[in-house]
Amino acid sequence: MHPLFWHLNKSAADNILFLFTNARSTQYAPGDTGPALKQFLSDIKGEYPFVDIPYHKKTIYCFDNEAFRFAVASAPPNNMVFDDTLTRDYEVSWEVSVKECDRLLERIISLSPHIVMETLSLNNAKQHIILLTQPLADIAKNISDNVYECERRKRKIYEFTDDINHLQKDLYIPSVDIESEPLDQPKIVCGDKKCCTQENINGNIKTHFKTNCHSPCYLTYSDGNILGNKGLLDCKASNKYERTGPDRWDYPKNMVPDTNIELNKDGKMLLHTVSTTKSDKCFGCGHSFQTHLHINFETKIVKKQVRDESKYKRITTVKEMTLAQDEQIKKLEITIEELSKENHIITKAMAKFASFIKNNALTPSNDVFEDYVKFIIKNEEQAGNFDGSSSRVTIDKLTQMLKQYEYDKVILDAMKKSDHGSIWVEDIEQIIKQLCGLKWNGKAIKKLLASQIQSKDQSHAQNELVISCGHPTTSVGKLNAFWNKIF
Ligand SMILES: [Zn+2]
Ligand SMILES: [Zn+2]
Ligand SMILES: [Zn+2]
Repeated sequence: MHPLFWHLNKSAADNILFLFTNARSTQYAPGDTGPALKQFLSDIKGEYPFVDIPYHKKTIYCFDNEAFRFAVASAPPNNMVFDDTLTRDYEVSWEVSVKECDRLLERIISLSPHIVMETLSLNNAKQHIILLTQPLADIAKNISDNVYECERRKRKIYEFTDDINHLQKDLYIPSVDIESEPLDQPKIVCGDKKCCTQENINGNIKTHFKTNCHSPCYLTYSDGNILGNKGLLDCKASNKYERTGPDRWDYPKNMVPDTNIELNKDGKMLLHTVSTTKSDKCFGCGHSFQTHLHINFETKIVKKQVRDESKYKRITTVKEMTLAQDEQIKKLEITIEELSKENHIITKAMAKFASFIKNNALTPSNDVFEDYVKFIIKNEEQAGNFDGSSSRVTIDKLTQMLKQYEYDKVILDAMKKSDHGSIWVEDIEQIIKQLCGLKWNGKAIKKLLASQIQSKDQSHAQNELVISCGHPTTSVGKLNAFWNKIF
């Protein structure tokens, strides 16, 4: 139920109705599902944004379709005969269900329509935010790597006492680029320190996920978290399947989640009968699902030197040398300032995104950005034993950024209370545009977002492929495949 609610805008809360089917066996009442659903709704109400989804006679409807089956079975050509008790049972079932249907339609007419477009554009904005969160956190780390490099270079030029001829070699702006490589298929990796390695690339730390716990992974549900995503509980890494019967070729139905559906030309696939053992610990590496990530791109660090060759071609006098030093130091200072400003813009944007998600969601959500930045900090701490690495500086800068982020969120909350600070879907679009236009990091953000969208589209396209392929006579199989993918 969580994924369903996650996609709804909180303005939909009043229009949610609960329909129970097969209710003849539970005396036309919700049965065992009732208490579980009540608990679920009370959990939603108990946490921010405290959405109250009404659960009472006017929102509960119980049906039964046995009467319809009875009608089909007893009519020609089936002509089945039932005894009186059963016939009476089906009559009651029919009467109750018709009444419930009338009551449901009356209720629907009385409700003011929910603007579906609102939920759609909101979901779109939310989707973009989710796709941007991890890249932006990675870029925030990259900015501190760059600032660290620029400061190091500044010191080097400032302290330069060597021969004039050697100065030219030192006059450049260092650049640490983050390059993303989309994966052909998404995979599940573990972020626990035992499953990661840290590489020191000339002073900058790069964390590598060395354990592929499930690759390729076919999960489609995500609750938006980068770490501790509950969707991962459906991954094959969290489930052990043991065969309990013979394999057979059939139309795909009752599939376990995270399955690659490949149909033959008859629309069938090889099905196994299995028993499932679920675990919140990975069967691959033994760590909790909370430390695992679903990734569809990998990044690498590329270090470059940006030089202005024409300018410093010939430095012959001490005066020229001092001038060149001053000029380069100034350039580095400007770069540091511009990078810090961009970091500030990204932090503010993330605070606005978080506030937007928090204020529009129907169910409580975690602060994904904060969790992931803390994860990067932890990785840097683990790499702290490298000599001359940027770890300490990066940890300080990211901690400082998180403080600023918390502060920005508090300010946004305060502004919201005074009704000046509501963030709308259009604001989100504007912020994303601004981020993609940043001088130093805009290109990288744009590229990372594009590759995220592309891999998301790819997994959708694959799903659609499953639905559209197969033999024309296998409509049941196709429909099953379709529903299996939806739920
Ligand atoms: Zn692990
Ligand atoms: Zn998986
Ligand atoms: Zn694992």
